[in-house]
Amino acid sequence: MSSFKSPISLSSIDSDSDRTGTSRRSSGEIHVIVGPMFAGKTTALLRRIKSEDKNGRNVAMIKSSKDTRYAIDSVVTHDGTKFPCWVLPNLLSFRQKFGADAYDKLDVIGIDEAQFFDDLYDFCCKAADYDGKTVILAGLDGDYLRRSFGSVLGIIPLADSITKLTARCELCGKRAFFTLRKTDETKTELIGGADVYMPVCRQHYVNGQAVMKAATARVVVESCKVQSDSYLEETAVV
Ligand SMILES: [Zn+2]
Repeated sequence: MSSFKSPISLSSIDSDSDRTGTSRRSSGEIHVIVGPMFAGKTTALLRRIKSEDKNGRNVAMIKSSKDTRYAIDSVVTHDGTKFPCWVLPNLLSFRQKFGADAYDKLDVIGIDEAQFFDDLYDFCCKAADYDGKTVILAGLDGDYLRRSFGSVLGIIPLADSITKLTARCELCGKRAFFTLRKTDETKTELIGGADVYMPVCRQHYVNGQAVMKAATARVVVESCKVQSDSYLEETAVV
């Protein structure tokens, strides 16, 4: 019987908020773009932010100060497209740095490399639930060991939409879902590009991990490729 009460109180909360909602901003949204490295996540994010910008909405981009691979004041895709952005160590400082008045006028906030922000959940909650912002974030869902990376997956219960992009396997050209680390460095946050990482399909991820484990010194990617190809041939024969 106690479960019978719950829908009534929920619907009364809804209608209350509808009645008082006229003085509040329109409801916010959260959209999540995930995938391995080289899947075009930043490109997809920039496309959406630019499209919102063209539609007359106020937009701002944020990226982590941990990632200084391309430029410190721009989000830059692997193919060189640029967009100015705020570079911050955390997200909750954004409102104060951006200015409270300017923040209030913002419609859309883009977050690149979202896995680097520890306060992602709290920021997204506040921005979408209470401040009426549309938050579009892009980040890695998994690290090089395919474990959940940072707090990106924690946002999924809050999200309106989730897009998982794929790359092309560097070894066979099939769809790549994972990021393989080419070096024997084991710390989770090792920032790098194609010199350190490559996108791989499931089979080549498993093969690549086996090569990494077997190697005692720095792993030469070519050996991984040769081993993977010979494995492919063997399975093709079978
Ligand atoms: Zn492959």
